[in-house]
Amino acid sequence: MSEQRAVVLGAAGFIGSHLVERFLAEGWRVTGVDNLITGTRRNLEHLAREPRFDLIEADICAPLDVPGPIRAVLDFASPASPIDYLKHPFETMHVGSIGVENALRLAKRAGATFVLSSTSEVYGDPLEHPQRETYWGNVNPIGPRAVYDEAKRFAEAITMAYRRYEKVDVRIARIFNTYGPRMRLDDGRVVPTFVAQALRGEAITLFGDGSQTRSFLYVDDNVEAIWRLLRSGYQEPVNVGNPHELTIMEFARAVQRLVGTRVDIVQRPLPEDDPKVRKPDISRAREILGWEPKIGFDDGMRRTIAWFRERVRG
Ligand code: UDP
Repeated sequence: MSEQRAVVLGAAGFIGSHLVERFLAEGWRVTGVDNLITGTRRNLEHLAREPRFDLIEADICAPLDVPGPIRAVLDFASPASPIDYLKHPFETMHVGSIGVENALRLAKRAGATFVLSSTSEVYGDPLEHPQRETYWGNVNPIGPRAVYDEAKRFAEAITMAYRRYEKVDVRIARIFNTYGPRMRLDDGRVVPTFVAQALRGEAITLFGDGSQTRSFLYVDDNVEAIWRLLRSGYQEPVNVGNPHELTIMEFARAVQRLVGTRVDIVQRPLPEDDPKVRKPDISRAREILGWEPKIGFDDGMRRTIAWFRERVRG
């Protein structure tokens, strides 16, 4: 096991940096790759003196050469928050297509297992609820979110093509809303935005009437699922998310309660194509991976708020 090596694409990102830590803890060597478009070296600075880790600053849309033996290529490289992918539409489409193909080629050359970080966005604004992996989704192909949704759908398609025609051993994780330490304070997503607003004593910006739902998974539970998926040998998509569903209004009230401030809640327009509901059916993950979330909502939120509290002040 100690000679195992993983290549983590998007290693300086939120989930990527947590994955790096997990693989190091399991005794692996890890090479990270990141172009730092939305990730930051700060997420990895505590590993500066770790001899089993190195970081290559590179864009995976350029041909990717990582010499040496590789057991797993984990592709977690993409802008992932709505404001990030709307700010970087072309980079998002390229990294989900050209970048994923470069990553698949690297996996093929090395005889490595390939793990794709896909997304619940492949289900779009879902008409099936909760969402099972068999659902094909309801995606607007020409709306603003399409730059992300369709890139990820293409990413799944090319991953399956490399499995069918190139015999690459693949995994596809459909990741639902995930939160925790190292989310960027200004990434625009609901967790860092509401928490930062409550900590600063500013009004919480609720988009629409707050009746839309999301289901939030703590990052450590996400990493555990990815680790198990890699080792499972299972080559079809698996939902990785928490079935505990909240309206965004309920989420706003929970943030007020957990931060302990009674800031106002103000309404803002609902962004175009904002999904009305989202909740994973995790029967497949339970059965194949023996996995389900372990960290409750209040516990995960308290850890996240503690982390943000230091950043907001410091
Ligand atoms: N949202 C909100 N206020 C904000 C940011 C987000 O009400 O300041 C809502 C957003 O409209 C969506 C939900 O929170 O319904 C989750 O948004 P996020 O950007 O975190 O990710 P999404 O799940 O939409 O990809």
